Amino acid sequence: SKVPPIILNNGVEMPQLGFGVWQVPDAEAEQAVAIALEAGYRSIDTAAIYGNEEGTGKAIAAAGIPREDVFVTTKLWNSDQGYDATLRAFDTSLGKLGLDYLDLYLIHWPLPSRDTYVDTYKALEKLYSDGRVRAIGVSNFLPEYLERLISETSVIPAVNQIELHPYLQQHAPREFHAQQGIATEAWSPLGQGKGLLEVPAIVAIAQKHNRTPAQVVLRWHLQLGNVVIPKSVTPSRIKENIDVFDFSLDTEDLAAISALNEDRRIGPDPAVFDIG
Ligand code: NAD
Repeated sequence: SKVPPIILNNGVEMPQLGFGVWQVPDAEAEQAVAIALEAGYRSIDTAAIYGNEEGTGKAIAAAGIPREDVFVTTKLWNSDQGYDATLRAFDTSLGKLGLDYLDLYLIHWPLPSRDTYVDTYKALEKLYSDGRVRAIGVSNFLPEYLERLISETSVIPAVNQIELHPYLQQHAPREFHAQQGIATEAWSPLGQGKGLLEVPAIVAIAQKHNRTPAQVVLRWHLQLGNVVIPKSVTPSRIKENIDVFDFSLDTEDLAAISALNEDRRIGPDPAVFDIG
């Protein structure tokens, strides 16, 4: 594959760059995932709430790639938290994807006020010990919620998928994850494209390397050790976003991008987000 893997804390290999399909309707997701697989992506990030697990699964099946060469992630939606509901939701997701095992299952949001994420995670542990999923993890968990999981359950999450881009660099969570052996996966790695890709410092680095701003931002993530899952439905951009393994940023470039941090979220605050 074009994309080198990172090794998760249970030894499982995960491609460091994958394809995200948030906000892509089911039929369009089928097309976009097909293009992504054709372009060399071997990791797909979906979620029950995205409503495109079926299209994603169809594209994977149609691509004819050996199952073990594709890394598939989906996420448990908020309304399915709780031990039994989680087991049922997993079966539903796997059925929609048309798979007989999953590579990575994530709790989509912590919902701290509901206090259900520990029981929910115990259901993920059950799915993991039954061999139905190769790795389990979480999304949008603050370090304090991870600490609670680590003290009250037995499997340390393999991944925490969090909002992370040059405007929100998540220094403390990244350091905490590294100490605990949890991989940091960046959602909205391009800051949803809004404005970030026009920032003069990023445009200048792109010109210097004869690359695009999106490629520079993805390279910044990769060199920091983050897993990234950029999204696009535009074929040329889908290809552009994976074409980032034949150049590197130098320390000056990395420092210039790191100087853009504003601790500014685009998405919801996980401490209060409570929808669904
Ligand atoms: P992103 O940062 O990947 O940005 C995507 C947008 O950037 C595109 O819609 C397009 O407008 C633009 N873009 C993409 N490639 C480009 C290019 N080469 N040149 C110019 N513009 C380009 O944003 P995202 O979709 O929010 O995040 C990526 C993935 O992360 C999602 O698809 C989803 O899988 C995941 N995600 C997870 C959560 C979560 O709560 N766990 C939340 C949001 C997103």
